[in-house]
Amino acid sequence: MSDSYTSYLPAKAPEPNVETQPFWDATAQGRIDLAVCDDCGFIPWYPRLMCPDCQSTSMTWTTMAGTGTVYSYSVTRAGVGRAWKEHLPFVLAYVQLDEGPIMMTNVVACDPDEVEVGMAVTAVFDDTGEGTAIIRFTPTQRDSNE
Ligand SMILES: [Zn+2]
Repeated sequence: MSDSYTSYLPAKAPEPNVETQPFWDATAQGRIDLAVCDDCGFIPWYPRLMCPDCQSTSMTWTTMAGTGTVYSYSVTRAGVGRAWKEHLPFVLAYVQLDEGPIMMTNVVACDPDEVEVGMAVTAVFDDTGEGTAIIRFTPTQRDSNE
């Protein structure tokens, strides 16, 4: 990935399938692309090629803003495998994207004790080294005009 790549937490490469390949390809380029239903507007998480709401198979890959809010979270302080032990404590969270979908992820690059429900977060991408990246989130910088 780019020079600006930062490793936050272990990033095991996923195994993309025909439904999720465009999603994973986008992560490698620093984007969250999800399939949006052309008929009812629903955005399923995880990405699917048939709308679970109205059964339409007319879905369009669409780039999300990459921002959202913490929907729920917990702080893991113990009881993890070796690869994760050096990263304790870390935050496991559900983040709701501004477009609606709620995804399981991590909130990184901040004090775990400062994370709270409703906190504004922005996506970051942990390169797996295999043409994909794991989506995580950091607290949104309030003063940024970017
Ligand atoms: Zn639909």
